[in-house]
Amino acid sequence: MSVLETTRSAELIALEDQYGAHNYHPLDVVIERAEGVWVYDVEGKRYLDCLAAYSAVNQGHCHPRILHAMMDQAFKVTLTSRAFRNDQLPLLCRELHELTGFDMVLPMNSGAEAVETAVKAARKWGYKVKGIPEGKAEIIVCANNFHGRTVTIVSFSSDEQYRDGFGPFTPGFTIIPFGDAAALRNAITPNICAFLVEPIQGEAGIIIPPAGFLSEAAAICREHGVLLMCDEIQSGLGRTGKLFAYMHETMRPDVLIVGKALSGGFYPVSAVLAGKDVLSVFGPGDHGSTFGGNPLACAVARTALHVLVEERLVERSADLGNYFLNRLRTLSGPNLKEVRGKGLWIGIELHSLARPYCEALKEEGVLCKETHDKVLRVAPPLTITREEIDWAFDRIRSVIGKQ
Ligand SMILES: *Cc1c(COP(=O)(O)O)cnc(C)c1O
Repeated sequence: MSVLETTRSAELIALEDQYGAHNYHPLDVVIERAEGVWVYDVEGKRYLDCLAAYSAVNQGHCHPRILHAMMDQAFKVTLTSRAFRNDQLPLLCRELHELTGFDMVLPMNSGAEAVETAVKAARKWGYKVKGIPEGKAEIIVCANNFHGRTVTIVSFSSDEQYRDGFGPFTPGFTIIPFGDAAALRNAITPNICAFLVEPIQGEAGIIIPPAGFLSEAAAICREHGVLLMCDEIQSGLGRTGKLFAYMHETMRPDVLIVGKALSGGFYPVSAVLAGKDVLSVFGPGDHGSTFGGNPLACAVARTALHVLVEERLVERSADLGNYFLNRLRTLSGPNLKEVRGKGLWIGIELHSLARPYCEALKEEGVLCKETHDKVLRVAPPLTITREEIDWAFDRIRSVIGKQ
């Protein structure tokens, strides 16, 4: 493109490249506004969002009810810190309890912070309740996990890029293959306090473990006095067609980590949910966050949950996910390896890099993001309609069929 034809998108991309750190490789679409499943770039072109901000906007972009809750609360009070109480946190805690059955809630902001909180809770529980000798507590995690980007979390990543250049790392983690109950049993020692797992691995490429794995893991953990901690930051709140992905099996984790869609994408809100036996290891001063549990976050999260329940988005995800998955399973092409998914969380695995397909889909008006090189992730807001799925499907078919 010549200098004379420089578009507003090109100018903004150049600015970001010049002044912003390059820790992402975004598709070159510059979004200016969004509504429901649709986003619009600065030139006014419309795209169907099939990523939904990694499932943070399950409720759809700029949901009007959440928007109004946020504005109403912003006019009243936004931040009190936990030095004082506020009128929204107790209501969010009770509503989360009523929705999930867990006794207690510890509110944080980003997903990584909630995972860090769960790691701290598990270790302290290991010392105070299980009686592990000081400094010896260990946590089992799975290969190809994704739990966030802090130093402790990347310490137990099996992805070399996530760790490269960031050591020294936090010790105390053991990695087993995902979906392997025998490996879990073998890895347990008296010093293991917890097993941290995504019920379905998202960033790894929508990897669904063998049926029964989670139930078996829960039984093994119970037998050995090990906490089972599910990271449902991406898989939770309707994405897989159940309120939480663990509900596809007959088990219940001891600790549940939520984030992303907990705010419908308006604001970073995360939380650790668990029984009293676990979360009561924290006393005043043991852990905290200036913004965690603030009234703006809590008002937004409460409404985001109300929308999820009242608009029956979990049921929608199950029904429309089946519909979308069945349509995508009819695709064929020399480069197509597998189509898999649960609810509106679908991975299309290719034999070659997925990035060029994302670029081609963007030209057609569908936004997807590759994950782990060869998987195209399809995860639109749960508010998507059947007609919009058909619209996206036609474009995915033409792009996958073409190359
Ligand atoms: C996104 C994600 C995180 C990290 O959340 P952030 O808000 O980006 O810190 C942790 N675990 C899983 C499974 C995720 O998908």
